[in-house]
Amino acid sequence: MRQTKGWILLLAVLLSAPGCSRDKGAPSGDTGDAEERAGGEASARANVQQHPIPDAIFVNGHILTLDDSSNVVQAVAVQDGKILATGDDADIRTLADESTKVIDLGGKTVMPGMVDSHSHASLLMKVRNDYVDVHFSTAPDIPAVQKQLADRAKETPPGDFIYAVGSGASAEYWTEKRLPTKAELDAVTTDHPIILLAGMHVAVLNSKALEVLDIKPGKEYQHGSHIFFDGNGVPTGGVGEPIGVFPDLVYDEETCKLNLTERIPDWYLKWGVTSVCDIGVPTPNYDHYRKLAASGINAPLRLTYKVNYESTGKTLPDKDLSELAMPLEADPAFWRLAGIKIWADGEGGANPATAYITGHYEDRPDDRGLINTNQKDLNNAVAHVHKAGLGMFIHSSGDAAQEMVLDAFEYAQKWYPNEAPMVLEHFGVIMGSKEHFERAAELGVYGCIQPFWISTFPANTVTNLGEERAEKVAFHFKDMIDAGLEPAYGSDQTGTQRGDDDTMFSIELMVTRRTAEGDLFLPDQALTIDQALRVMTIWPAKALGEGHIKGSLEVGKYADMVVLSDDIIKVAEADPEKISDIKVLETFVGGESVYQLTQ
Ligand SMILES: [Zn+2]
Repeated sequence: MRQTKGWILLLAVLLSAPGCSRDKGAPSGDTGDAEERAGGEASARANVQQHPIPDAIFVNGHILTLDDSSNVVQAVAVQDGKILATGDDADIRTLADESTKVIDLGGKTVMPGMVDSHSHASLLMKVRNDYVDVHFSTAPDIPAVQKQLADRAKETPPGDFIYAVGSGASAEYWTEKRLPTKAELDAVTTDHPIILLAGMHVAVLNSKALEVLDIKPGKEYQHGSHIFFDGNGVPTGGVGEPIGVFPDLVYDEETCKLNLTERIPDWYLKWGVTSVCDIGVPTPNYDHYRKLAASGINAPLRLTYKVNYESTGKTLPDKDLSELAMPLEADPAFWRLAGIKIWADGEGGANPATAYITGHYEDRPDDRGLINTNQKDLNNAVAHVHKAGLGMFIHSSGDAAQEMVLDAFEYAQKWYPNEAPMVLEHFGVIMGSKEHFERAAELGVYGCIQPFWISTFPANTVTNLGEERAEKVAFHFKDMIDAGLEPAYGSDQTGTQRGDDDTMFSIELMVTRRTAEGDLFLPDQALTIDQALRVMTIWPAKALGEGHIKGSLEVGKYADMVVLSDDIIKVAEADPEKISDIKVLETFVGGESVYQLTQ
């Protein structure tokens, strides 16, 4: 990072223009110099017309712009929510007049607002607000889980569903080291259907839920979910990929409004996230959000959508997809459709993993995971979306799925070349080979990574893939960058884990590589702090097709900024394990303060 006067070009143009009354005076203080302006109303008007007066200037800061040269400046000027100029205090102050608000940053470090390009924001709000919390940190054993469920049953009308959620690692962390059984859930209630989620990929149902959802003996796949049976072909209550049997992923409009005006901003702004991409949104919810957008409501942060479609792409609207566009009345600064999300394969982080891989899983010679589509359907789906100029975002966790998705992107790019984002969700996290990184870079494809998983998934990955392969392909974030990729942050929050919302911790993990068990996992894949900050800001902005308006603090971009308690560069150099102690003090969206740390 280096100090610069990168904005000086802009100012030189401003000052050389005729009618500018600012070319004589030295910087004139926070409120401007009235005498100088008294030079004539006509001249002042000319000045206003040619050189917008900033609404606000932010001075006395240590501002990490994260522009291409990682320039650091003292001050920025903001007008209409966008950055007008960046530079030294003295120079930026000369742009202001008495109408300009002056924000003294007190020497604090400021970084661009963070962009979470893969976050299940709406689902997360449901899980954390409506579901019974049986995470092992609040319910350490099965009797505690039963007690939480019984309490909820008392206040729930008979027949209504009860949802409960633990973490994906629940089975390892509950005292019994297993999930509750159907019988243990039946012991709580037979009047209410119960769906207990252990992460988003495994669930246990009680008998009432099996009955209500019409899950029959003997049929392995029902409603798109994987049903488990005992030796007699009777459902055990266990369900894989249970999202298929959820009756309640769809919200009413009122809840969507509550999400976007209160819950989502409350959740993300405290972590310095100013742009959230709600991924995998079912179309009924997306329609509610579009209606709200058209009504003129804006959230205090920027929302982007990746609308969910069935994995083969066959349920995509078959014309030009323009029916999915955000309504014309929506403010494009706050509402965007990024494109379409589909699932190519299973989950690399699940236990056991179901990502579609070459070869087979360690100790499971017949198992190479699940693929949800075939090459022909995938090619057609990607080409269809590409033709419409929308972004295509494909869950592809295993290397065999990644190969298919890269083939599909190459196919689409050949027939309908365009600039819309092409993203492999989870690329390079559980798996990603050097060869695929290079191919993706050549195709202009992005990889969306989950830095938090460095903490939680390496041990599981070693078990699933075997040590040698895991070390070759898992969490190779530095290799991605060396191959020319710009990995993009996505928290992938669904509400089932703890800590995956903490942006400072995610940055720390990329720099330290410290796992939850305390080991350093492939420390030679550690990123520099500058790279880690880019993963959180400019690269996800680009992966959403928003790099020209977000992700760095440069002239013309939104003034989305985060004030930190400490100089993150210095902390990273001195002791990177302390990065997560850094606090977000204040968050600005479009130059407006939208969050302040209170204690
Ligand atoms: Zn996800």
